[in-house]
Amino acid sequence: MSEKQKKRLIPAIKGTKDILPQDIRKWQKVEAVTKKTFELYGYREIRTPIFEATELFEKGTGQTTDIVIKEMYTFTDKGGRSLTLRPEYTPSVVRSIIEKRLYLQPQPLRVYFMGPMFRYDKPQKGRYRQFHQVDIEVFGEKDPAIDAEIVEMADALFKKLKVTDTEVLVNSVGCRRCRPAYHKELRRKAEQAGERLCADCQKKIMTNPLRIFDCKVKTCREASKGFPEITDYLCPECEEHFSKFCSYLDLYGIDYRREPRLVRGLDYYTKTTFEIVSSRLGAQDAILGGGRYDDMMKDFGGPDICGIGFAMGLERFISVVPFTEKKEKFIYLACLGDRAKRAGMELARYLRRDGVECLIEYKERSLKSQMSRADKLGAAWVLIIGEDEVKKGLYQLKEMATGMQRECSREEIMKIIQESS
Ligand code: AMP
Repeated sequence: MSEKQKKRLIPAIKGTKDILPQDIRKWQKVEAVTKKTFELYGYREIRTPIFEATELFEKGTGQTTDIVIKEMYTFTDKGGRSLTLRPEYTPSVVRSIIEKRLYLQPQPLRVYFMGPMFRYDKPQKGRYRQFHQVDIEVFGEKDPAIDAEIVEMADALFKKLKVTDTEVLVNSVGCRRCRPAYHKELRRKAEQAGERLCADCQKKIMTNPLRIFDCKVKTCREASKGFPEITDYLCPECEEHFSKFCSYLDLYGIDYRREPRLVRGLDYYTKTTFEIVSSRLGAQDAILGGGRYDDMMKDFGGPDICGIGFAMGLERFISVVPFTEKKEKFIYLACLGDRAKRAGMELARYLRRDGVECLIEYKERSLKSQMSRADKLGAAWVLIIGEDEVKKGLYQLKEMATGMQRECSREEIMKIIQESS
């Protein structure tokens, strides 16, 4: 490697993003409000590893999904095991619940989670290879009231954060009893569409015809308009579940649109599926998506316990949350000379101990240059410490917004700052 090559910057990987200090307040606020909202509904946080056995996602997410076919970050570790960076959260949670026997706890069991996900998809606005999801899951509640409760919880979160211009789409994808008859009819119609379907969709006819509805190709979209709708094939149980779910949404006064083509890209959904989309997002307009997965736990070798959940993309959500930055409330300690610096260091420690945010200048600089630095950094106050101040134990506190300056002891400084916040 040449010297020049050695010094070359190694850039971030395509499809990944740094979340920078100037943006972090917004992330922190959204995360905090989200957690608080979920906790109000009885959810508790769960954290599982970022990587799992590849098989877990093959089995859980499903062999015929785009995620498993083309998007997983899979690697072999030094012990020769095939591992995958999680592309979604549900299989990890279900694994953990079975393995740690959390299903023995009183049900319904409500958990939430926040963290990065990894999908090797084509990056574009709103679509990344590492992105963040907030995820909730409920286990052991069959009643459609819970389906409505989680949509209402998402709605409450959106309202708290003043997110507008969203639409709730709902559907039912039936169950293992009623879906085969629908699949049969759908396959028949899809075969008739023949060349009007893209090559990818032609394959889906056999593997998972429902997913033809997810295709973005224009001719496929056109062709699928004439395909039968799943809601006409629901068995009485699924039909009743769906109509109760909708009636509970009505009870909450939540506007929603029935979208019979909303199938969502995962294999495991049963009965309810839903999505919240935003008209402010462009092509990648889904903020949140979810549904019921009543068979996953038993398919994973666990007890027969139903599940339902949703995942929300944080990048997309945060981009539609209005945000006004709160003014920083910190104090800048401008020290003139070595004795002043030492006094400043002690003073900063004293103030921080009681929760006052301080920045202290260590470099030898003129007062003028320190004042201009404090201003650039956005300090609310500057505390001027020179030889005289150290001797007297009284310091010059300047409020930057008004320019007012007064002499204070450290106790007075503390009082002024605490009273102002
Ligand atoms: P999914 O797990 O595919 O149902 O996605 C749930 C939510 O995660 C979506 O509604 C998006 O908000 C977000 N999401 C999914 N994939 C990506 C991605 N590649 N980049 C950014 N956000 C994503």
